[in-house]
Amino acid sequence: MENSEMLDRVALITGAGRGIGRAIALELARNGADVFLVARTEAQLLAVAEEVRALGRKAEIIVADVSHAEDVANAVDVAIKTYGHVDILVNNAGITRDTLLVRMKDDDWNMVIDTNLRSAFLFSRACAKSMMKRRFGRIINISSVVGLTGNAGQCNYAASKAGIIGLTKALARELASRGITANAVAPGFIATEMTENLAADSALMNKIPIGVPGTVQDVANAVRFLASDRSGYITGQVLNVDGGMAM
Ligand code: NAD
Repeated sequence: MENSEMLDRVALITGAGRGIGRAIALELARNGADVFLVARTEAQLLAVAEEVRALGRKAEIIVADVSHAEDVANAVDVAIKTYGHVDILVNNAGITRDTLLVRMKDDDWNMVIDTNLRSAFLFSRACAKSMMKRRFGRIINISSVVGLTGNAGQCNYAASKAGIIGLTKALARELASRGITANAVAPGFIATEMTENLAADSALMNKIPIGVPGTVQDVANAVRFLASDRSGYITGQVLNVDGGMAM
């Protein structure tokens, strides 16, 4: 194991089957955390759990749709029954349903808001009690540069990611006295399956001062810091991991 700074911490990570969520799960495990992995695809969750166990940490999985309130309540219940507590919550699951405003269906709006924003509220509410009891908690919500800048064709997604920032700041104020911090990470253009059709877009690359897409590890590194004991005096912040895109 690389580091034991999160030894005995339990981290619940949503959307942990692939991409950024998988990288976060592995990074927290490398630093000593046991993990509870939530996503929709069992085969992916099982594979990530195996990778975590190979690092010497515990991993449990649950197949759940974070846009369903019952699934969220059940997932947190099982996590607490399994480990006794949740110390670190990473609200990472997210989807896009991009289209221009006039073509956007109610369903496109509702699906994205429920998956990206409402789920973060539901998981935070469900985990807060366990964190309060132990007077320690780290809530890390994955936003996006688009939540700061807006983006044509992404009314639903931008609103969900801006909403995540408001939620984070309200949680930070409400939970600070209980030893719980809440911060958001706002990735820019990170190379994952979600963005694979954008990689060849040179106009997009020109908007990134650092000039290349970020990696899932870049995001996981930021989450690891915000999840650690070392970030205890940082709350209500948005940490951009975007190569300078949204400064
Ligand atoms: P991805 O599509 O590769 O992975 C998303 C994960 O979320 C998958 O494991 C999927 O199963 C899970 N998920 C989606 N909907 C779910 C649901 N209803 N219930 C349970 N799980 C669900 O995406 P990614 O690129 O790794 O993105 C992760 C997060 O980072 C998202 O919130 C995304 O908005 C955000 N983000 C990504 C980028 C980027 O460039 N990739 C940029 C900014 C923000």
